[in-house]
Amino acid sequence: MRLSRYFLPVLKEAPSDIEIVSHRLMVRAGMIRQEAAGIYAWLPLGFRVLKKIEQIVREEMERAGSVELLMPTLQLADLWRESGRYDDYGQEMLRITDRHDREMLYGPTNEEMITEIFRAYVKSYKALPLNLFHIQWKFRDERRPRFGVMRGREFLMKDAYSFDVDEQSARKAYNRMFVAYLNLFSRMGLKAVPMRADTGPIGGDLSHEFIILADTGESQVFCHKDLIEMGAPGPDVNWDDLQAQVDRRTSLYAATEEMHDEVRFASEAPEASRLSARGIEVGHIFYFGDKYSKAMKASITGPDGVDRPAQMGSYGVGVSRLVAGIIEASHDENGVIWPDAVAPYDVALINLRPGDEACDAACETAYAAIARAGKEALYDDTDERPGGKFAKADLIGLPWQLVIGPKGLADGVVELKRRATGEKLSIPLEAALEKLCG
Ligand code: ATP
Ligand code: MG
Repeated sequence: MRLSRYFLPVLKEAPSDIEIVSHRLMVRAGMIRQEAAGIYAWLPLGFRVLKKIEQIVREEMERAGSVELLMPTLQLADLWRESGRYDDYGQEMLRITDRHDREMLYGPTNEEMITEIFRAYVKSYKALPLNLFHIQWKFRDERRPRFGVMRGREFLMKDAYSFDVDEQSARKAYNRMFVAYLNLFSRMGLKAVPMRADTGPIGGDLSHEFIILADTGESQVFCHKDLIEMGAPGPDVNWDDLQAQVDRRTSLYAATEEMHDEVRFASEAPEASRLSARGIEVGHIFYFGDKYSKAMKASITGPDGVDRPAQMGSYGVGVSRLVAGIIEASHDENGVIWPDAVAPYDVALINLRPGDEACDAACETAYAAIARAGKEALYDDTDERPGGKFAKADLIGLPWQLVIGPKGLADGVVELKRRATGEKLSIPLEAALEKLCG
């Protein structure tokens, strides 16, 4: 993409009422624009990151055996009356009436609708286990939308739902999601720690929140330090038996504020290993048994010929919140530092003197070579002064900067800078491209 034809409305200053760094950087880097409290337009740069995150989530969900569909944002109130949640949800639910005076709502989550879909088609244990997910906008009329897309009212969530014939198999489904979550957060460059969590209004008895640590996090969390450094299991695990992977982690103390028990914490973790910190919830998994399937009569016939409500779980990832969460975890005083896997472009290609024949030719060569290698460059071909270009490149935080100017070219070199470390190499263009494109 050529910057001269792109839409990247960067700002020198962000509005002074912005409280946290990710929100400030997203506004300054032209990633989002607030349209109403907690409701944002995703500008091109922000939208690309959102799509990258979404794709990683999708791939890891599919790897774990979940199947993608897409449910609508609008739902019938009557569906929610079946589960009893229509009244329980209170003011967080955005209620809408259509032209026929039918009561509807903008979905804050989809347990009811997926249960309705399931019960329409699945009658036998033979179709199980089944795990379905979608990535769709949700609306929750949060009392205090804040911190940009971190706590929005409209936000993008991946929500998956598992259906099993019995508890044993449902726990396996839970474990698959547990491991998929570790893997997908790790692919985004995040250290997300599973913590015992309260099940809240969704109910159930087994639940973990996946938390990334950040000073600006809204929840206080407590965990054994070893959990932070424990790597993700990776894709090459035995997906049919993940109990050991799960146990390795759940045997170490980790709890959110609501579930925290100071006495247990003290007895289960030696003082030096006890960490108390702020955290951001980026995912949440629940096993809730027959809570919805019973109320909504989603029954299946078991191998014994007896009908029983399906055993269910639900599994959410805050896709739009992750954009901000990743920035909280990865930035410096000059701007964002995107992990490679979610960067909106791979390389900022900076032409220090557009109009100069040698500079233009070298940049075009680089631009084409990067594209040929299947990578993406954002080519700054504008006539802004170099200082402005460098500041902008640091602000938007692409992993690499390839800087081409007349002085360097005269000496046969370009400059390749790694955004994360600031490390700079003055090397011939071919060598720089070799490094970038491999
Ligand atoms: P929170 O405690 O932060 O309000 P929640 O527990 O109500 O979130 P869940 O129902 O568990 O949220 O939703 C699944 C995921 O969706 C959360 O882990 C979070 O990452 C994301 N999420 C929830 N609410 C919001 C919001 N208002 N804005 C952005 N993302 C959100
Ligand atoms: Mg939650």
